[in-house]
Amino acid sequence: MELFDVAIVGAGPAGATCATFCAAAGLRTAIVEREKFPREKVCGDCLNSACWPVLRQLGLVEQLRNLPHGKLDTVEFIAISGRKIIVDLPHGNEGEIAVKRSLFDNLLLRRARELGVTVHEGSTVTGLSKTPARNWKIDVVNQTITARVLVGADGRNSTVARLRNLLPIPARERVALQAHIPLPRNFGNRVVLQFLAEGYSGQAPVNEHELNLCLVGAPPTISSLRKWAERNFEIEPAQPWRTITPLTRAPVPSVQGNLFFIGDAARVVEPFTGEGIYYALRSAELAAIAIQKMVQGEARHSILREFAREHAAIYRGRLWINRMARAAVLSPRMASALMQFAGPSSAILRLFTGKIVRQQF
Ligand SMILES: Cc1cc2nc3c(=O)[nH]c(=O)nc-3n(C[C@H](O)[C@H](O)[C@H](O)COP(=O)(O)OP(=O)(O)OC[C@H]3O[C@@H](n4cnc5c(N)ncnc54)[C@H](O)[C@@H]3O)c2cc1C
Repeated sequence: MELFDVAIVGAGPAGATCATFCAAAGLRTAIVEREKFPREKVCGDCLNSACWPVLRQLGLVEQLRNLPHGKLDTVEFIAISGRKIIVDLPHGNEGEIAVKRSLFDNLLLRRARELGVTVHEGSTVTGLSKTPARNWKIDVVNQTITARVLVGADGRNSTVARLRNLLPIPARERVALQAHIPLPRNFGNRVVLQFLAEGYSGQAPVNEHELNLCLVGAPPTISSLRKWAERNFEIEPAQPWRTITPLTRAPVPSVQGNLFFIGDAARVVEPFTGEGIYYALRSAELAAIAIQKMVQGEARHSILREFAREHAAIYRGRLWINRMARAAVLSPRMASALMQFAGPSSAILRLFTGKIVRQQF
């Protein structure tokens, strides 16, 4: 049986990026992915401008620009009363865009394949164990993969974390629905974050014809959110929706021996801020550097300490934004009331947006 240097569970942005960097460093790399790509995923489809440097290192900037996408020039916050506050987003070539996850994730996975990563699609991981030599045995239906290092990049409901008894008990506090619907006429180059009595909605154009529509609320209110969307966007009741829960959960330790967690598997952030893909890409890049050193035989203790420190640093100074966003979306009436008193170019919303898109206003 082939022994891989690294096996990565999950081929979303975190897994595919980590695989590409590992393969580029000469490591024998395998990915195990439950779905067959291309596939959609519950997401607002917005790429924070902080993603561009990692995408440049992956050599994907031009290919990404050539994919159908929506350009996002402004973010429009809408209170329950209908009051709007519009904040500019960074302009230029490396601004915010929205691209369907079927296209974006497929692009990343194709890059991993080009660099020689062995990709097992349609393969759900069901079991994990260790060999006497402390390598990992990863059970997939009908086969077992062995690797010196294992990476859990399998999202917020991580099977790897669950199989290692590390997954926090999920709280079904809120649930998200998402669909791509026909783009309303004159929607413009904006992302909309709209507070509603029952939760909130995110809207972003992903190409010239389609709008990404997300609805987030507590389980009892989700059907009234769907009815709101059907009325406002003239959607058929038969419209298929994708769904996911939980929206937030406690983090999992980012590294333990020769097991790493990256992206949502490690830490789930409030989706209102649209930063999850950036964290997935950046944590993947850091993990690939650490894994390369580990496979080359450098002292494991210092590698683990350094990775844990750098992983935590990606989020440092930013979790307050997350807490603020979470407080706002959990109390949409309060957030809307505050918006009523804010000036038309609310300083706090400009600061909030500037922090998220990492721009100084
Ligand atoms: C409503 C909502 C809106 C959001 N909007 C945005 C946004 O606009 N911008 C943004 O940056 N972020 C957004 N996010 C967050 C973003 O979607 C995630 O942060 C991002 O997908 C994390 O990437 P990942 O690679 O870590 O995990 P994922 O994208 O979840 O990928 C995990 C992969 O693992 C696979 N997998 C799972 N279990 C197994 C298994 N047992 N075996 C094999 N494979 C498995 C899955 O099929 C999946 O392909 C949003 C999230 C939500 C819920």
